[in-house]
Amino acid sequence: MGDGIGVEDPDFENDVLNGQPEKYADAAASAKNTNRNPLPSWLMTKFREHVEASNKRDGNRLPPLYAKHQTFWFPSKSPFFSLLQKQVTPQCLFNPRFFLWDPEPLVFGGIPCPMCGQKLMRHGHVERPHRCIDLYDTFWIIGYRYHCSSCLHPISKKATVTFNSWDTHIISNLPPHLAAEFPVRLSFRSGISFAAFGFMRSCFQNGMGAKQFSDALRVQHLQHYDELHLQYLQAIAVGSKLKTWLHQAYEPFPKFEDQSLTGFHGYVPSAQWLHGLYDEFIEEHQQELVQHTAMLSGEICSIDHSFKVCSHKSIFYCLASKHLLWQCTKHIAKVNGVPTYPGLLTVTNEKGEIRVCALVATKSHSQFEIALKKMQESLHLYGHAQPSIFILTIWLISSFWRHHFPL
Ligand SMILES: [Zn+2]
Repeated sequence: MGDGIGVEDPDFENDVLNGQPEKYADAAASAKNTNRNPLPSWLMTKFREHVEASNKRDGNRLPPLYAKHQTFWFPSKSPFFSLLQKQVTPQCLFNPRFFLWDPEPLVFGGIPCPMCGQKLMRHGHVERPHRCIDLYDTFWIIGYRYHCSSCLHPISKKATVTFNSWDTHIISNLPPHLAAEFPVRLSFRSGISFAAFGFMRSCFQNGMGAKQFSDALRVQHLQHYDELHLQYLQAIAVGSKLKTWLHQAYEPFPKFEDQSLTGFHGYVPSAQWLHGLYDEFIEEHQQELVQHTAMLSGEICSIDHSFKVCSHKSIFYCLASKHLLWQCTKHIAKVNGVPTYPGLLTVTNEKGEIRVCALVATKSHSQFEIALKKMQESLHLYGHAQPSIFILTIWLISSFWRHHFPL
């Protein structure tokens, strides 16, 4: 049903995302941190190991991972090698992947503060790694806090403003070829890798909805987890005779969504979460999509009313509300329970591309007059010929039509 699985981090939305300055080192901040769901011990142990290793900086303030290995990804042990240990536990197989994101020493001249432009200084690591959903598992970002010495916190009036290194405003201030290394699209609560997000876009464009995608993602994550479980059982089975003789017992493999300290804390986002992230992405590109549509030709056009905005269409833009849409038109807006936009007027060109897409309150021609006038203007503006053939249903033939597009 696209509900996802596992528990979202309920406090993540209070974090310092999207340039919201946060004061640190005060009672409110530490109280907030203690309220959070604890992360599993196997994850935090690895996290602390990596943070400690990254604190040993060279002369250029680079952590060994950047200076020696020249990568943002920490190597992670393959399950086979974990199973060679004497005391095997399910947690040995969890081997989380970590991405170290500290771009400050990589930028010549430092990173400017998004608010005042002053050079930011590193101020320790973020207390917890940030979870990111990938195609079949989860990886974690290790981030740093960057402190601005000149910005004052609006409430405390103290210079305690910090930004997380994964803050979108910090990333947008980086050289593009460095920003391109950041592998995640973040939301308020979690994040999804660009690989999974890109695949989701392809799925949506090919008729798969958010519910189906969430379910498919859940299957991939569960399958990967089940395979680890199987590998664990196989390793135990190989040496079982000796281990039985030694009376050695093994821990059972925990459930995917087990939230105990030694549990896996598996999580797959719901359809609603994925849907929201996709809508946000489309809205960010609203202007480009509208511009692209305005530059298309329209020599042979077909005009129609549709009553469901279908996911196969590439752009859904409401001329009235200036919002992009992709849902049933009857559910877009209701006043006293009556749908305000019962239909969607669509004009497609000779290549089958959508040339006009406008929500309409009725089938009356006054509803699409503006849209067709704008189309006429943009065809002229971008040097296209005016329509020579318009395929339309009979009720659309009107004086407006004959006046504006004489054939
Ligand atoms: Zn500042």
